[in-house]
Amino acid sequence: MQFWLAGMALALLSGTASAQYPSKAVTMVVPFAAGGPTDTLGRNLGIAMGKPLKQAIVIENVGGAGGNIGVLRVAKAAPDGYTVLLHHIGMSTSPALYRKLDYNPLTDFEYIGLVADVPMTLIARGNFPASNFKEFLTYIKANKAKITLANAGLGAASHLCGLLFMTAIETDFTTVPYKGTGPAMNDLLGGQVDFMCDQTTNTTGQIQGGKVKAYGVTTKTRVPSLSNIPTLEEQGMKGFEVAVWHAIYAPKGTPKAAVDTLVRALQEALRDPDLKTNLGKLGTEPTTQARATPEALRSHLKAEIDKWGPVIKKAGQYAD
Ligand code: ASP
Repeated sequence: MQFWLAGMALALLSGTASAQYPSKAVTMVVPFAAGGPTDTLGRNLGIAMGKPLKQAIVIENVGGAGGNIGVLRVAKAAPDGYTVLLHHIGMSTSPALYRKLDYNPLTDFEYIGLVADVPMTLIARGNFPASNFKEFLTYIKANKAKITLANAGLGAASHLCGLLFMTAIETDFTTVPYKGTGPAMNDLLGGQVDFMCDQTTNTTGQIQGGKVKAYGVTTKTRVPSLSNIPTLEEQGMKGFEVAVWHAIYAPKGTPKAAVDTLVRALQEALRDPDLKTNLGKLGTEPTTQARATPEALRSHLKAEIDKWGPVIKKAGQYAD
């Protein structure tokens, strides 16, 4: 009788807990510094997901090691539905870049879904002495010993794009790592570094405001909000294509009820007209409902790990 009562009480408690989830704010870890593209996407998404969840989504910036410090923070967080991770393509490149990774992207997380694919732009400080891509290439090759390339560390999207670019033009530059491309952009604007490849969610405003020079976009087609900027492919870099996919994860063991609630909130957020408008201004758009599912994310992540591993090895980039 006593056991039965205890069981009933537990069942009621857990039923109430899941029925009430979330009963407080949810922390969304962004594994890069504030003010950068992942942060911007997270803040917009947090507002849109907070509406159906009826709770605030609080952004926590945990930058460093190309995003891997923030990823580890979530891998080790309590699996209670109150900590999630917003990360990007780096989840699929880090396994090839790091000899020892303290988490496993394929086993340490519950998958919520994909969020958006964000184009990248090749940009330089505003006073860079090149007015188009051809002049830019000539100048950086002739001055390679003094040119600096900013990125957000080994494993960042800016690292991947820079690596592909340096490989394609067969020229290496001194790279300058930051905890995110938010602070990297500050240094680019201040003229302390020369160039960078970064998501449109960070660069659109600076390009449109004439604060930085843009030499190309990394997607197959031009970006509508930056339609005057040619693709790198159009300018002779055949096959150069990077779109930075972003996705949401929760720690392994997060209750299914919480995962399901987060998936529904993500899908609702992606239908939110305000999110669509805000992302459109930043050169991207919410992904489809079909991709905003755990299954779609799991198979995409696996395919991307299989895709980038050999590319990174071929580029001669070895794990730390
Ligand atoms: N854009 C950065 C990257 O290169 C990250 C960020 O600051 O959001 O991965």
